[in-house]
Amino acid sequence: MMDRPKFLVDRMLGRLVAWLRIFDYDTKSALELGLDGDEDAGLVDLARREGRVLLTRDRALVDRAVRACAAAVLIQPDDVREQLCELVRHYPLETVPVMERCTACNALLRKAAAADSERIRLEAPSHIVKEDKEFWVCDRCGKVYWQGSHWRNIKMMSDELNRCRPK
Ligand SMILES: [Zn+2]
Repeated sequence: MMDRPKFLVDRMLGRLVAWLRIFDYDTKSALELGLDGDEDAGLVDLARREGRVLLTRDRALVDRAVRACAAAVLIQPDDVREQLCELVRHYPLETVPVMERCTACNALLRKAAAADSERIRLEAPSHIVKEDKEFWVCDRCGKVYWQGSHWRNIKMMSDELNRCRPK
């Protein structure tokens, strides 16, 4: 059984980040890291140190990563659906959406408790709060999650990605 991969995503693939987190993959984004100086060197170094697969649109960066013994995958499409499809061809990713990881900051979520009701009331639309839905919270960045109407689109994406898998 292959270890669950962790990812590091370059600036040009920013939309991939939230999707990988929805599928509960530990994912860092170049956009969030604020690396100083030579960003490419910083990304390669981080990928190697933390055992992350570097996802990039830059072929030269893939070569640089491979020379440094870091894993890297070239992702060329413009569209995020095609980008995910490309990735699914390389890795047997589980593309089942789960409420495990904050899409905004990569921290693990927890189920909301009674003490979170005030925070939920502030963050969620009132009709959602009234429906007595299940909520999750991120203790790192404060974001509140629930399975609203967007959840159907997320599941649709998940189904579509199954078609990208190698037969
Ligand atoms: Zn968060």
